[in-house]
Amino acid sequence: MKRILQFCNRLIKQQMLKIGITGGIGSGKTTVCQIFETLGIPVYYADDRAKRLMTEDPILKRQIVELFGQEAYQKDGSLNRKHIADIVFNNKAQLARLNAAVHPAVGRDANAWHDAQNAPYTLREAALLFEAGSFRQMDKVITVTAPEEVRIARVMKRDQTTDEAVRARMDKQMSEAEKVERADFVIHNDGKHSLISQVLDIHRQLKAL
Ligand code: ATP
Repeated sequence: MKRILQFCNRLIKQQMLKIGITGGIGSGKTTVCQIFETLGIPVYYADDRAKRLMTEDPILKRQIVELFGQEAYQKDGSLNRKHIADIVFNNKAQLARLNAAVHPAVGRDANAWHDAQNAPYTLREAALLFEAGSFRQMDKVITVTAPEEVRIARVMKRDQTTDEAVRARMDKQMSEAEKVERADFVIHNDGKHSLISQVLDIHRQLKAL
């Protein structure tokens, strides 16, 4: 009986879909993911996990020290963000090398996390899902979108920052129009469409796949 249960469990996990969820800065990815979580869907927050992996994953830590020297870490083991930011801000090659180390580490971690879940599908939330190439490991991709002015106003309020600072961050990302174009599902978070009904509709479709 135990073996049959284990077999069924393995079968369910094989069928558990990987769904990516992305969108530009301030589009509302996290807000939408929180609604999916209330439906029992596990969410992997790639940007938060990446920050943790940079101090916890031994392979990634070694690569970061090789790229940025021992100063990449403080004496207490925390990441010396200023040191790294100062280097990558004006050095695209070093930024590319950092990304080339971080993205595979997140991919390994996300896959292990996915395999440990038990749900009809899991979500991976990542601002740079397309840019980093991790969309290729996803069965479907959802893009959350909102008009640029709305996104800027929301991020300014959330982060207590300026219009220029938000635009500078936006300029580093793929355009939201392209993210919409490449998605299998689009969620409009413009304050006019109901987020809950859009999430419920996609949830129903994903469960039926
Ligand atoms: P980032 O890429 O910066 O992490 P995000 O895409 O995850 O952003 P959120 O953090 O979910 O976006 O939303 C940005 C801000 O806008 C948050 O303060 C959130 O509470 C607010 N927000 C999101 N959706 C709505 C909405 N429909 N109505 C009002 N405020 C909203």
